[in-house]
Amino acid sequence: MPLYQSQSLQIYNSLSGKKEPFEPLNEGYVGMYVCGPTVYSNVHLGNCRTFMSFDMIFRYLRHLGYKVRYVRNITDAGHLVDDAEDGEDKIAKKARLEKLEPMEVVQRYTVDFHTILEKFNFLPPSIEPTATGHIIEQIEIIKVILEKGLAYEINGSVYFDVAKFNEHHSYGKLSGRKLEDMIANTRELNAQDEKKSPQDFALWKKAEPQHIMRWPSPWGDGFPGWHLECTAMSTKYLGETFDIHGGGMDLKFPHHECEIAQAEASYGHSPVRYWMHANMLTMNGKKMAKSTGNNILPGEIFTGENSILSKAFAPSVVRFFMMQAHYTSILDLSNDALLASEKGYNRLMEAVDTLGSLETASKSDFDVTVWKQQCYDAMNDDFNTPILIAHLFEAVKHINLIKEGSEGISATDKELLKDTMEAFVFDVLGLERKGDGTDDSNMLSGVVELLIQLRMEARANKDFATSDKIRDQLAALGIQLKDGKEGTTFTVS
Ligand code: AMP
Ligand code: ZN
Repeated sequence: MPLYQSQSLQIYNSLSGKKEPFEPLNEGYVGMYVCGPTVYSNVHLGNCRTFMSFDMIFRYLRHLGYKVRYVRNITDAGHLVDDAEDGEDKIAKKARLEKLEPMEVVQRYTVDFHTILEKFNFLPPSIEPTATGHIIEQIEIIKVILEKGLAYEINGSVYFDVAKFNEHHSYGKLSGRKLEDMIANTRELNAQDEKKSPQDFALWKKAEPQHIMRWPSPWGDGFPGWHLECTAMSTKYLGETFDIHGGGMDLKFPHHECEIAQAEASYGHSPVRYWMHANMLTMNGKKMAKSTGNNILPGEIFTGENSILSKAFAPSVVRFFMMQAHYTSILDLSNDALLASEKGYNRLMEAVDTLGSLETASKSDFDVTVWKQQCYDAMNDDFNTPILIAHLFEAVKHINLIKEGSEGISATDKELLKDTMEAFVFDVLGLERKGDGTDDSNMLSGVVELLIQLRMEARANKDFATSDKIRDQLAALGIQLKDGKEGTTFTVS
């Protein structure tokens, strides 16, 4: 019997504002779409948080035995600077500034995205479609919306008619806004604006002669509006109704609101059954964002090369830090928070590693079956990873008491504890053991000895910055240097 039949998962649906029992459209199968990155720059840690929240959700759904089709797109066209309706395409702008082909920009940052996600031990999505690979599908949706009279063409561009749509639908229902208030709070259109109303949004934009990213369409050469790609790709791969649509909170409006409007206009109903929004990673209390410069790159964390950091942190430590907060809560990044997470992560991993060698007794002093269900209850309550982690530490406490001989555990319970800990720590939270991937021990010893030598030379030259960097970066990889009378030795944990 698949696990989901005995567990009752509740999901907070941003559309209803309530936790709802999760019942997929087709029993045993889940269709999940998550808005992917706009690949015009390196992903910052804030972006990673949103994708990591959905990686954890994907992992837990799979763990429950669902067959999940997880679609996460790559936005490689149509996303204009400042998320505005006018202005330059983010990718085209980067290409112009760096004298590259737009597709070179796309390739560079898609590779960066994948490399970083791999370091964080993400599971790849089932399908990773691109906006430029779905221009035909987007044009077809525009044709339908035009036929329904809910969009208008002007000067080679097509705009969604929000006021007309709102006559029979409710624009703003996801973000809790009312069209009248939006109208009251927006400026008048400029004379050069071609839209009927500031709330209208582009489905297709005419490409000016200098615009390089262009495709032919019934309305002339142009490019699709940003919101349209997600409607096209989600429904193409998951159907006109699917289970979960996710993204960062900042995408609720206008992006997801516009997606709902487009889908309702073309299919007559909203395609999404559960809308899920992940909250923001902040730094110094402010949203981490590319545009404001208030951001940190994952690579800077892995090397410690950022002034806010006292040392380097391993990807799993950062992952653990993220998982200590609920995905709908704001999380603030700081050096102290990472140091605390590192301690917690080390304690957890030590306990997982000692589990196998625990001596067993005739009976258990710790009710593993009850504890196991508490772990599931935490995750069933809208993926509450901080509560799950609190239960994992409850187990750590018992593991240490058993190790000391102050408590006992039966052989059956020990197996159950080991299997459950490993399932939650590795499969669900996606943490990795320190030093994973460094399996060639001879080569590893050679490389570490060389680094120890270089560190000694640096210290002899009073170059403490280099010597500390070598020690810290090795520590981030799970290699601890220990200075003693006989020289420096190392341990791999
Ligand atoms: P973008 O590449 O700008 O389209 O953003 C990719 C994803 O990162 C979106 O789901 C955003 O909501 C998300 N995102 C952007 N900034 C942050 C942040 N500071 N914390 C969490 N998620 C973020
Ligand atoms: Zn999207």
